[in-house]
Amino acid sequence: MKNKAKKTLRPVEFIVPRSSENTYAIVTAQVVLDTRSLHLADQFILALRKAVTQWIRSSKEGRESLDSSSEDLNIGDLAQDGISPKLKKELAKVGIFEMKIDTNSRDEEHNWEYDDHLFEDDWESCEKCGTTLNSKGFCKDKTCPYSDRQQDQTYTEG
Ligand SMILES: [Zn+2]
Repeated sequence: MKNKAKKTLRPVEFIVPRSSENTYAIVTAQVVLDTRSLHLADQFILALRKAVTQWIRSSKEGRESLDSSSEDLNIGDLAQDGISPKLKKELAKVGIFEMKIDTNSRDEEHNWEYDDHLFEDDWESCEKCGTTLNSKGFCKDKTCPYSDRQQDQTYTEG
């Protein structure tokens, strides 16, 4: 019975925002599915910290990386420097595999927010009487000539 139990891996993705800036990191990895619950960001960061700490303690490149970050080593530094084979080894020990980091920043200021409606608000109400339109685009006011025609249709006043 020398067969090692096969590890079950699960893909994860975490969005890590940088506060007060339009920058964020997207961290993807395969994590071991077990009692450590590494698919949860809060557990993942604990494991990641453990691996990076071990990497700093046990390797020259780890210490150099910490130095060059002015003792401020964060996800942005890892994104820039890449994940070395030594760090990969430490990550594997804590159950993290194939970790990749992308950083993104929103250069352009704009006002589009997550909750903004994806339909034109003026499409919602009748141009003649201001009443709300139904899903077919007809005015809900039965006395309005647009209650049985589209807003772009013309009619003869009768
Ligand atoms: Zn109307």
